[in-house]
Amino acid sequence: MTESFDAIVVGLGAMGSATVLELAKKGLKVLGIDRLAPPHSLGSSHGDTRITRRAIGEGEVYSPFSMRSYELFHDLEDKVNETLVVKTGGLILGNKAKSAAINHTFDFLKNTLTAANKYQIEHEVLEAKDIRRRFPQFKVDDDEIAYYEFGASILRPEMIIKAQLAVAKELGAVIHTNETVLSFEETNTCVQVKTSVGVYEGEQIVLSCGPWLNGMVPDLENAFKVYRQILYWFDVSESYDNFQVGQMPIFIWQLKGHDHGIYGFPAVDGKNGGFKIASENYDQITSPDKVRREVDTDEIQKMYNDKVAPYFPRVKNKCIKAVVCMYTVTDDSAFVIDYLPSSKRILICSPCSGHGFKHSAAVGETVAELLLTGSSTLNISAFKLNRLLEDKSL
Ligand SMILES: Cc1cc2nc3c(=O)[nH]c(=O)nc-3n(C[C@H](O)[C@H](O)[C@H](O)COP(=O)(O)OP(=O)(O)OC[C@H]3O[C@@H](n4cnc5c(N)ncnc54)[C@H](O)[C@@H]3O)c2cc1C
Repeated sequence: MTESFDAIVVGLGAMGSATVLELAKKGLKVLGIDRLAPPHSLGSSHGDTRITRRAIGEGEVYSPFSMRSYELFHDLEDKVNETLVVKTGGLILGNKAKSAAINHTFDFLKNTLTAANKYQIEHEVLEAKDIRRRFPQFKVDDDEIAYYEFGASILRPEMIIKAQLAVAKELGAVIHTNETVLSFEETNTCVQVKTSVGVYEGEQIVLSCGPWLNGMVPDLENAFKVYRQILYWFDVSESYDNFQVGQMPIFIWQLKGHDHGIYGFPAVDGKNGGFKIASENYDQITSPDKVRREVDTDEIQKMYNDKVAPYFPRVKNKCIKAVVCMYTVTDDSAFVIDYLPSSKRILICSPCSGHGFKHSAAVGETVAELLLTGSSTLNISAFKLNRLLEDKSL
């Protein structure tokens, strides 16, 4: 006999593990399925650290999601007795007068300030001389300023996913790993989900399969583009003192003269872990099957020459490791949390345009509310799928 569930969640990365947990908290009978065994390093949620902040430069609509996620991540920390959110402060650096490199959206720094004022988020605005005095690791120009958010923090993505799945299980969620969803079909009463192992029925299903989404719903391929990204960990010359958590903030820097800026973290795992820094790349569309997972020495050298050495003079030309990860991006860099066209049972929640982790706990809660009641506490009107479709009648 086919086993039935109130909800089936396909993909257990950042979004899916949060969704399974929130559904289990609400007492639903939930099945979570993943083709791999999360946390893993083949999707979009690996690389030791993610930035979180409350004033969101991608648009003030996101701040309620990150603020609620802080609460949910702290609850999770209490449940598993681990540190999942590491407070270190955050700098958003940019040009005083005009926008420089793009970070998901234009006017990132200006939007951040607007959100900070709207949601009364504790912050300071620093002139170049203040930045140099307080944070000598950063080599800023005279015309650069920074927004400093006291509560900005580092999230530990792999630990969070592991904790969310463990607590969900304790609450009764059924978790199947190393099982691939091959197809799904909506009937009048449920969605039938066929996997590499069996067939299940869900009253509703959630597609949170990150960069694999296009393979699951090929009709939407034009709406979601997957891009290869690289994370780098460099060694620091002399001492790590200024690069430790608490000494150094996370940062997002809209560099002058570049299309895309940089972001990075203090050496959260100490000297052996190195200083993590990355930029963004939108040159070539890829897919999880085709993406090149190796990083060339040329790519490492170019990153160091162009985007590390000029801005962090104390960072050595010695890469400790470099890792490939994927963004799943919409044309307006905004999320999608919505049912598939003409479906009341199949919801997607995963394309997060490279800035989703900090919001993922609240996205999970929002999806759980939608499945249960049809509405959500947080406003998701900006995340409709329809805006991305050529045929708006769908
Ligand atoms: C380099 C990089 C840096 C980032 N930095 C930040 C940051 O600093 N702050 C921030 O907030 N966000 C950041 N993000 C974004 C954030 O990490 C992502 O939005 C988030 O992790 C995406 O999670 P996901 O659950 O959508 O996808 P994934 O984590 O990829 O999960 C998808 C899951 O679906 C499973 N799956 C796929 N197909 C199937 C199938 N057919 N059957 C079963 N299972 C399936 C996969 O195995 C996978 O586990 C960054 C992303 C990247 C790549």
